[in-house]
Amino acid sequence: MRVLLTNDDGIHSPGLHALAEAFAPHHETVVVAPEHERSATGHAVTLHKPLRAWRSGVFPEGVTAWATNGTPADCVILGVLDLLGWRPDVVVSGINVGPNLGRDLTYSGTVSGAMEGAIMGIPSVAVSVAAFVEVRFEVAAEFAERLSRLVVERALPADALINVNVPNLPPERLSGVAVTRQGSRRYLSQLERRTDPRGRPYYWLAGEPGPLGDEEGTDSWAVKAGYISVTPIHLNMTSERLLGDLAAWDLTVS
Ligand code: MN
Repeated sequence: MRVLLTNDDGIHSPGLHALAEAFAPHHETVVVAPEHERSATGHAVTLHKPLRAWRSGVFPEGVTAWATNGTPADCVILGVLDLLGWRPDVVVSGINVGPNLGRDLTYSGTVSGAMEGAIMGIPSVAVSVAAFVEVRFEVAAEFAERLSRLVVERALPADALINVNVPNLPPERLSGVAVTRQGSRRYLSQLERRTDPRGRPYYWLAGEPGPLGDEEGTDSWAVKAGYISVTPIHLNMTSERLLGDLAAWDLTVS
């Protein structure tokens, strides 16, 4: 297979390197990744300054790697439209340090890298490990490689991508693999107001992760229960329920 790897933690992230090591022996593998961390940039693309890409030589033998000054979505666009010179069979984004569950998907640069692939009509997978310290990448990297083969073999419907979250457990303690729905777990936004040396207020935005364990069958339930969570994601955000309700509202131009 021809594989494009990207991430949002930056080209030096060990999660990206673990992915490259899992794919490189079996597939034509190219990395296009941000030069530094762009976590929580969502689906931002760069329109108001030049994008640049340069070769980065720190990957396993046979892997061509490009660092860019862009976001994950920029990296996929740059890769597919110019740098690769071929169309990838699959785009894999990750492996992210930290989970991408529930409401995280809206903010996630990792998931947006895969979404951009899906928008371009390329089967795409986002992969995250649900931990921020002492993160184990081996299981997630091997699973991503096997899942990518299936994704290419079976194909994905239009506008769909796959979001994978792996519990940070040794393989023998994993419960298995669960196909899940996106849950509603979210970060509890915290805004800290401080005062700068000139007496003016400034703010730090921080988020306390909400508890894992939404209702059964969701992504965060699966991770809490020790399953690798595999969630099919759809790009179309229309609320079918509100679509019906809105039709009954008395909406007029004036
Ligand atoms: Mn990240």
